[in-house]
Amino acid sequence: MNVRAYVGLGANVGEARGTLTAAVHALAALPAAQLVAVSRLYVTRPVGVTDQPDFLNAVVAIDVPGGPDPETGALALLVALKGIERAFGRRSRGRWGPRELDLDLLLFGDARLEVARPPAGISLDAGHRDRLLIVPHPEAERRLFVLAPLSDLAPDLVPPGWDASVAVASRRRAASEVPGAVRVVGTWDGAGWMAEDRTSGG
Ligand code: ATP
Ligand code: CA
Ligand code: CA
Repeated sequence: MNVRAYVGLGANVGEARGTLTAAVHALAALPAAQLVAVSRLYVTRPVGVTDQPDFLNAVVAIDVPGGPDPETGALALLVALKGIERAFGRRSRGRWGPRELDLDLLLFGDARLEVARPPAGISLDAGHRDRLLIVPHPEAERRLFVLAPLSDLAPDLVPPGWDASVAVASRRRAASEVPGAVRVVGTWDGAGWMAEDRTSGG
């Protein structure tokens, strides 16, 4: 049985648009995965560590094998995401800092997970083993740079543990951000994001 997962993408080092485009294609090429939808592309002000370049952010919906149980299925996807991050040259710089590519597992079907340690046979980088995987991603509800693109794909979805739909959470969050903190800069056309052209007639 397949599970619909939502993955958040972010980049602010190097050619970020090209990186995110290639990352979407890498996600689509994962074994047994089917890419379902790709959000619009957003340029967003950094949150937390603000002294760094703006980010590009997007969200994809992807159907992946559910595995024997949600923990195993979600961990397999997390391992795949980390593999793609590494393939795109992600280096360790610490949380919330600049990065070539960040892939976060936002939602894994209707699963609520808090996985402390990998099962035997799955090895992951040290340092993050205490809270290896938390789903839904605990910050997703508070981050407009996640909520806005997620709302492109699943506005009416109420993720497990949330008190509102994605669209409502996104509107709420937008009301407390400065205008322009998160702006649309492209629409996915199947191969890449086309610029949102507001100057041409029509
Ligand atoms: P944040 O998680 O707040 O967005 P970040 O993306 O900068 O911060 P990373 O350094 O990329 O953080 O990841 C730190 C660790 O978070 C990862 O090694 C991973 O094990 C763990 N983690 C826990 N839950 C998730 C999740 N839902 N998606 C991705 N990583 C997660
Ligand atoms: Ca992140
Ligand atoms: Ca991450």
